[in-house]
Amino acid sequence: MRDKYEVVIGLEIHAQLNTVSKIFCGCSTAFGAEPNSNTCPVCLGLPGALPVLNKSVVEMATRAALALNLHVNSASIFSRKNYFYPDLPKGYQISQYDRPFSERGWVEIPTAERAESGHPIEWKLKRFRITRLHLEEDAGKLIHEGWPESAAKSYVDLNRSGVPLAEIVSEPDLRSSWEAYDYIQHLRRALQYVGVCEGNMEEGNLRCDANVSVRLRGAEKLGTKVELKNLNSFRFVQKALEFEIDRQTAALEAGERIVQETRLWNERESKTYSMRSKEEAHDYRYFPEPDLPPLVITDEEISVASAALPEGPEARRRRFVEEYGLSFDDAAQLTDTRAMADFFEETAKQSANAKAAANWILNELVRELKNAGTEIESSKVSSDMLSGMIRMIDGGAISGKMAKDVLIEMYASGAPAARIVEQMGGGQLSDESQIREIAAAVIELNQKQLEQYRSGKTALLGFFVGQVIKQSGGRANPQVVNKVVKEILER
Ligand code: ADP
Ligand code: ZN
Ligand code: MG
Repeated sequence: MRDKYEVVIGLEIHAQLNTVSKIFCGCSTAFGAEPNSNTCPVCLGLPGALPVLNKSVVEMATRAALALNLHVNSASIFSRKNYFYPDLPKGYQISQYDRPFSERGWVEIPTAERAESGHPIEWKLKRFRITRLHLEEDAGKLIHEGWPESAAKSYVDLNRSGVPLAEIVSEPDLRSSWEAYDYIQHLRRALQYVGVCEGNMEEGNLRCDANVSVRLRGAEKLGTKVELKNLNSFRFVQKALEFEIDRQTAALEAGERIVQETRLWNERESKTYSMRSKEEAHDYRYFPEPDLPPLVITDEEISVASAALPEGPEARRRRFVEEYGLSFDDAAQLTDTRAMADFFEETAKQSANAKAAANWILNELVRELKNAGTEIESSKVSSDMLSGMIRMIDGGAISGKMAKDVLIEMYASGAPAARIVEQMGGGQLSDESQIREIAAAVIELNQKQLEQYRSGKTALLGFFVGQVIKQSGGRANPQVVNKVVKEILER
């Protein structure tokens, strides 16, 4: 049934710009402060208070726009978006309307449908157009809980009022819930790489509204869209879209019409519920903000920002594959955050063994970080320490097996690999004559196996090698053991 229909999705993402102070006043943006302590006449909307645009908001918005290939307008206009709600003290939100900060961007990213198991099926490169990125202020927050029953009311916390947001609107280019998922993940990374937004949906510094419609495959006109809200995690976006696509498809199959409305995702029930019919732009009575001049940005400011822009996550992922020969999956994981990518690249350079660097980080270090509940930024094993350990493995000083213990110990103690190896009673045994002595003794003790070997059962080589390594306390270099044992057996 689904195949008859084509899915059309467009996303509106609100990214909180991580400035120290608010967009139109000097109040702190710090999270978790005493309610209403980070406020002043401007963000409380007191009569006569005048907004002044924060310069670092413009710098961050510029970096965000450039990272998403948007054209930054030389002049943009702030507008008032009028509506009534208790968390909006002025009765309007300062936003941008017909002359936004930036327009006509795009991203080109790998995206894949997922199997039942959640596994990506086949990665394909796709381009999604971005309509615009504009600036606006956040509203306050209503608190309904945490009060005694007798005082059951709603309270307003205006600490968030005036926190800077970049709203990023996509064209209706996304064709499935997983494309939407991959697109937001990319935006999160792109904004995090240029240092403008932490991109944490659970903490609300990245918020997403999803617009979705379905139409008969081949139809030209877009179907009626529904807007989904209350999507507080990347997975909720994907799950809510999936539910909604099924709901719309079933409705159309039953001959019903889709109503244009806003629906809320209910995670507990895995369903969307109608919240209200969707308002139109003219309901907001937009008009230019008289208290703020046009936001002017020069070509020079744009080229300075552009020159200072770091390599983006997608370009870096591609380069990791080409330059270091990593697999797509490894490169994707290692470019998930900029700190992770930096850590890998330093380790790869210092150890001169990129593959080993990738493997040790992804298989061992990531587990230690997870156990310790920390991110790579505060890893107790630095890239210096990890590359030192990889050089010891490659130089034959320790075996890969020993290194696993060394890494765990490095993480626990913060000491470099060489010292830990010393404390553990020395490194790998590669000395041929010492190994030959052990091997001779082992073979002496296993006469039956020796006969069997010599009469053709050569698979027993593994048995002897294992015994020798065991006798050495796990320290003997397996390659040398292999060579020496073979020499003795075939004498
Ligand atoms: P509105 O006026 O309701 O805000 P817009 O045209 O501004 O609608 O689009 C808002 C978002 O919805 C954009 O991301 C856009 O790509 C997406 N969108 C628009 N029309 C559709 C549609 N028919 N189906 C799915 N998404 C759509
Ligand atoms: Zn303020
Ligand atoms: Mg709109």
